[in-house]
Amino acid sequence: MNIGTYTYEEYVQLVTSFHGNAAPGLLIGGFIVDLALKNLPEGEFFDAICETPVCLPDSVQLLTPCTIGNGWLTILNFGKFAVTLFEKQTGEGVRVYLDMEKLKNWSEVYSWFMKLKTKKEQDSDLLMGQIKEAGHSILSMQKVRVEPEKIQRKKLGPVAICPSCGEAYPVRDGEKCCNCNGESPFLEMKACG
Ligand code: ZN
Repeated sequence: MNIGTYTYEEYVQLVTSFHGNAAPGLLIGGFIVDLALKNLPEGEFFDAICETPVCLPDSVQLLTPCTIGNGWLTILNFGKFAVTLFEKQTGEGVRVYLDMEKLKNWSEVYSWFMKLKTKKEQDSDLLMGQIKEAGHSILSMQKVRVEPEKIQRKKLGPVAICPSCGEAYPVRDGEKCCNCNGESPFLEMKACG
């Protein structure tokens, strides 16, 4: 059983070093991306869409050339466990998702995903075992056509120097940068080097 070009064990190791721990979502995510890769429509250049920011994007980034940084991976905040790979020119693609009907056959994975048990009540070994054994069998696929304009990353546009902080920022944000406009998460900012 392989995930992308890796053995299952290699993938688990990869996930652990990249993500911090072998999260169940990333293991399922590995099978999701693997199944999508095996069912790509014809074409040369593929982009990815991930329908949740949780876990799944890391599976896409580990197993495909699509990353958040290079713009080939779009993340939708739909909270759905699904990945789509599609051809850039035609928009033709394949969407793989976690099929809840099929998941019912795997009690520990089902209750983990549906949050039916507290972390304490979970049987981690059983959960991991079931994920590995289930493999592709808890997934379903759809043919999709993507409207590329809908997910195109917005261009930065013209740049200016912020009058408050002196850093460069996109003019589209207004008179000042987002930080100085009061959207900042930083409680304190002090020069230190
Ligand atoms: Zn500023």
